Amino acid sequence: MALNALPPWLDRQLRTLLQGRGHAWLLLGPSGLGQYPLALALAQSWLCLQPDADGVACGTCASCHSLSVRTHPDLCMLMPEAMALDLGWPVEEGALRDIEAKKRKPSQQVRVGAAREMVSFTQFTRSGGDRRVVCIYPADRMNPEAANTILKSLEEPPGETRFVLASDTTHGLLPTIRSRCQVHALQWPALAEAVPWLVAQGVPAADAPVLLQAMGGRPDDALRAHAEGLQANHWRAVPKAIVQGQFEALADWQGGALVELLKKLCHDLFAVGQGQAPRFFAREDLPPAPITPALSAWSRELLELARSADHPFKPDLMREALLVRAQAAMRTP
Ligand SMILES: [Zn+2]
Repeated sequence: MALNALPPWLDRQLRTLLQGRGHAWLLLGPSGLGQYPLALALAQSWLCLQPDADGVACGTCASCHSLSVRTHPDLCMLMPEAMALDLGWPVEEGALRDIEAKKRKPSQQVRVGAAREMVSFTQFTRSGGDRRVVCIYPADRMNPEAANTILKSLEEPPGETRFVLASDTTHGLLPTIRSRCQVHALQWPALAEAVPWLVAQGVPAADAPVLLQAMGGRPDDALRAHAEGLQANHWRAVPKAIVQGQFEALADWQGGALVELLKKLCHDLFAVGQGQAPRFFAREDLPPAPITPALSAWSRELLELARSADHPFKPDLMREALLVRAQAAMRTP
């Protein structure tokens, strides 16, 4: 996503965050609501040389430019190596050499060494005494050692240092980190703004509302689903395909993703059985709800599986078993 093309619901939140008085924001909320682009836009705005009246970055000054090419000298991005590589942020040279030589895999956690570098980054004094920004994402990927390393800087940052931390879970977030930040709960976009935004990102108009519903109203997830090839008609055909045993229609779903899909289906059948609106599927695409005890048993099994589904011994065998089980659970008496 271009740095200056924030969706309207994130732009609104950015303007609110810029009013904040504290020096550290923690952006919290379920995944797919835009924590990362919002954190980046906040960092960019804090560093911008000619922001607008609300403090929002101009997108054209020298500072905005160096941020857009990811070489801003006053911005420290603290993230796991795997995430930095995914998002195009530089990884420390020595580490990169080891990763490229396959001596080790990119870390999934923020490394203590990187946390220490961040601390010296904030302490480095220059004649200008300008503002510096630290962005930590995902903040829950700091192990206690890394988190403890940054505590003091977070509490009493030297000079004009500001922090933005973002996370989509409160698990693994030390209370001592949380208590040193102002917390902002990410807001859900309205359907009326999320659908046009998805269409503007290249999602076909017929797919956008269906993908958004399939992803529980999370626009980033809907966009990713589209990028991965999910189309509205695939999604809408899922419940019937399972009931009718046409498992080849679900060939694209494997392991953890398949379990997630089945959890959504199970959730919606529960809702419909209790006279409520489904959340992920359209009412007309769902079969009649089976009896509650059958759904309860299936739901428990899916929760259990969700913990291990990404590491099955035989993915194909597991797929077949999952779908046969789903078909049985969806049978109405
Ligand atoms: Zn600027």
